Amino acid sequence: MREFNAVVLGAGGVGKSALTVRFMRNEFVESYDPTIQEEYRKTVDVDGELTWLELLDTAGAEQFTALNELYITAGRGFVLVFSLTLEASLREVTSLRQQILRIKGENSRVPMVLVGTKLDLTSEREVSRTHIEELAARWKIPVYETSAKRDWDVSPAFEDLVRQMRQYYPPE
Ligand code: GDP
Ligand code: MG
Repeated sequence: MREFNAVVLGAGGVGKSALTVRFMRNEFVESYDPTIQEEYRKTVDVDGELTWLELLDTAGAEQFTALNELYITAGRGFVLVFSLTLEASLREVTSLRQQILRIKGENSRVPMVLVGTKLDLTSEREVSRTHIEELAARWKIPVYETSAKRDWDVSPAFEDLVRQMRQYYPPE
C-alpha cells in the first residue's frame, strides 16, 4: 500500500479540525480545542485502491512560524483551508500557498487542494463562488466548497488530494 502524509493549513477558526475529523472519523466536532494539533491516520479507498493517509491538522497561531516551515518541508500534499464566511481567511491561504511554493520550488505542481468551509452557514457567506473559482484557476488547483457539519463534499476534496499525490510521486 502506498503511503502519503498531507498537511491541513489555514487561519485559526476556519474549520481545519472539523474538516479533518469529519473525513478521518466521520463525525462533527462542534467545539474542538483550537490549540490542539494532531495527526490522524487511516487507510482510505480511493478509486478502489487503498492508500495509507496521514493528515496533520495544524494549529499554528501565526502563519510564518518555523514549525510551519518544518511541516511544509515534510508534507507531500496540502489542504489549504479558508472559511466561506470570512473573506479575510483567503489572505492566509494566499500566503501559505506562497510559502509552500517557496519551499517546494516555484514551478512545482505540488499536490494541493483549496477548501472553503462552512457552506451550510448560507446567510453568513462572504466569499463568492466566482471569486474562489478565479483564484483556483489562477493557482491551477481544484477548489471545493464544503460543510463538515453537514458532510458536504468533504471526502471528494481529500480524495482529489490523494489522486494528485499518487500521480505526482512516482511509486517506489
Ligand atoms: P480550526 O481552528 O481551523 O481547527 O477550526 P475548528 O475546526 O475548530 O472550527 C472552528 C469553529 O467553526 C467551531 O465552532 C466549529 O464547530 C465551526 N465549524 C467548523 N466547520 C463547520 C461547518 O462546516 N459548519 C458550521 N456551521 N460550523 C463549522
Ligand atoms: Mg483546529
